[in-house]
Amino acid sequence: MKLSYLTIVVPCYNEEDVFPDTVQKLSTIMNNLVLENLIHPQSKILFVDDGSSDSTWHLIETESKTNNYVTGVKLSHNSGHQNALIAGLETAKEYSDCVISIDADLQDDIHVIKQFVEKFHDGYDIVYGVRQKRDTDTFFKRTTAHMFYQIMRKMGIDLIPDHADFRLMSQRALYALSRYKEDNLFLRGIVPMIGFKSTCVLYDRKERLAGKSKYPLKKMLSFAFDGITSFSITPIRLVTFIGFLSVLISIAAGSYALYQELFGHTESGWTSLMISIWFIGGVQLMSIGLIGEYIGKIFKEVKRRPRYTIESDLFSTEKAKQIFID
Ligand code: UDP
Ligand code: MG
Repeated sequence: MKLSYLTIVVPCYNEEDVFPDTVQKLSTIMNNLVLENLIHPQSKILFVDDGSSDSTWHLIETESKTNNYVTGVKLSHNSGHQNALIAGLETAKEYSDCVISIDADLQDDIHVIKQFVEKFHDGYDIVYGVRQKRDTDTFFKRTTAHMFYQIMRKMGIDLIPDHADFRLMSQRALYALSRYKEDNLFLRGIVPMIGFKSTCVLYDRKERLAGKSKYPLKKMLSFAFDGITSFSITPIRLVTFIGFLSVLISIAAGSYALYQELFGHTESGWTSLMISIWFIGGVQLMSIGLIGEYIGKIFKEVKRRPRYTIESDLFSTEKAKQIFID
């Protein structure tokens, strides 16, 4: 049987505190997989340094000189978790039969990696890691996350609940993924869209090994907002709906004002003022909503900026050399 090349992609932003531990744990896992003949010995752990300002890149480079599994890519500036992840996936895809993505803090259980690979051998193209319990997350994080999935579902966005970015993808799934060019990347929403045979593996989420979460509340909110607005125009429709409602109210208010004018007592000018304020306000809101609908669609299409820039790439250099030697 031909052994598969596995690449584990690990985005890192200022992770010098967790790096030594992470390298050691992932290398052990790799070693076991190689010993069990599940993967090719030349499989790699690809660390993506997302423009860290600490010594993360230095640690990656140094480690790669002595540890055969370790390699790295350095981005030219901090591009965010999702972009760092896609940078790793795109770099890895050419030379990997399958790729697993995992966060540097190893909050996700690395012991299910073996199950991921086995599922891949069983013919699955995508394996989602799904958190079984989230006891280690704060109550706040759990409830907000729950609300987020709820809202996304209501808006018709297909998400795997309690799945973050811990997953395996086959090479052909990665090639399919790289055809999604949107600037505002939300992998959890896109991956289920590409199809292929997929399955879930359950695990328990752990505490961060060390260091602090790079997702404070502000970033989390903007992440959630991005997730919603890049997949759905429901919020814009809501504006149109409010506008429509306000037109209806204006008709009712207008009728009342007219009735007062004809049969009751009113100040002069009050009726016409009321009617115009309500009506024009309603029409304006409705129009803004409608225009927004179009802008939303254009917005989705036109952004074609690069999502990240690679400063140095140890992985491809090494792989290219290997092929040359072979
Ligand atoms: N990360 C990144 N770029 C960023 C922020 C975070 O590459 O701008 C990485 C980070 O190093 C970690 C992963 O994304 O490996 C998830 O971040 P974190 O653990 O801080 O998020 P949380 O688990 O708290 O949601
Ligand atoms: Mg984390």
